[in-house]
Amino acid sequence: MRPFTSTIFAEMSALALRTGAINLGQGFPDTDGPPSLLADVAANVIGGVNQYPPGPGIPALRTAVAEHQRRFYGQEVDPERVLITTGATEAIASAILALCEPGDEVVTFQPYYDSYAATIALSGATLRAVPLRPGSSGSPTFAFDPAELRAAFSERTRVVLVNTPHNPTGTVLDREQLTLLGQLAVEFDAVIVADEVYEHMLYDGREHVPMATLPGLADRTLTISSAGKTFSVTGWKVGWVHGPVDLLGSVRAAKQFLTYVSGAPFQPAIANALALPDSFYDDLASGLQSKRDLLSAGLRAAGLTVYPSSGTYFVVTDVAPLGVADGAEFCWRLPDLVGVAAVPVSVFCADPDLGRTLVRFAFCKKDEVLTEAVSRLANLQKALS
Ligand SMILES: *Cc1c(COP(=O)(O)O)cnc(C)c1O
Repeated sequence: MRPFTSTIFAEMSALALRTGAINLGQGFPDTDGPPSLLADVAANVIGGVNQYPPGPGIPALRTAVAEHQRRFYGQEVDPERVLITTGATEAIASAILALCEPGDEVVTFQPYYDSYAATIALSGATLRAVPLRPGSSGSPTFAFDPAELRAAFSERTRVVLVNTPHNPTGTVLDREQLTLLGQLAVEFDAVIVADEVYEHMLYDGREHVPMATLPGLADRTLTISSAGKTFSVTGWKVGWVHGPVDLLGSVRAAKQFLTYVSGAPFQPAIANALALPDSFYDDLASGLQSKRDLLSAGLRAAGLTVYPSSGTYFVVTDVAPLGVADGAEFCWRLPDLVGVAAVPVSVFCADPDLGRTLVRFAFCKKDEVLTEAVSRLANLQKALS
């Protein structure tokens, strides 16, 4: 665990606090989730829903997750095959720890969500990270090279860990890309672990395609999501995973010795929230889309290259046009330069050169906070010179 002793979020958030910078580093919303959800949880705590819930999660929430999959994706999920976890993070960890051992390989994209590399290391498996790069195939969005993806697979591949919409790049993998991933998983008999925590944060009319809904993949796919992201309550850490009975049984075995259970008062409230009307989900996406536009325009005006974000809380920029050679060094200076904090993409890469000049900004903040950040960033070129 030596390479994983500190996280960039802790370091950058501490720096932001020390300098009074606006923290666009860590991806958490600065507004609360739906009032009905908050009131439900408060009532549950006062009303005595405070002891260990059942190991797999309460039936109402497992049923609500299954209903949610049918409502949004036409997917049939048996509530018996839903496992409630301590955030998506525990679902990912349980899946990797349950399925992988030394000698196995996990294929994922880099940059990746920061828990991936640490969790794979805990399992003793080897990470095979395939680059997502901007600008390939003439498009400014991040994409993988199909030949590079294929080359990462072998008979040692045990798991394909795929995140779409993708943190940090904001990329939404399209049906064709997902199909290719699925074909490779079938060819090499790998399990797909699909991290879909941003399933309700897609912009410009894009639609989320769950991996498990592609033909022939349901039997080998574990699908993961999180109430923290969907309901803007990232501190609650309630997530879930569903999939075929044999795989889910293994995941449950690992999960029950990580935390056993959690979130008793949250679980019934989240079950109710999943049934909120479409307007809730539509407003979530449209609100975030306008925040994306606000921050992206400001970053562009400040002289950064801004890669289009089609989903998530994040937009990735390139700081090279500012004459900056190292994104990490830039992020350490940014709070002092203009009073804004961000995170370097290189820390999310197995090969740090891949993201050397890339910097991630979070836009899941109040409009007035983003407006103030944009006005501060307008001083950036002067501050650098
Ligand atoms: C936030 C996030 C998670 C973790 O979700 P929690 O429910 O907070 O554990 C997992 N994967 C990705 C890509 C994320 O951005």
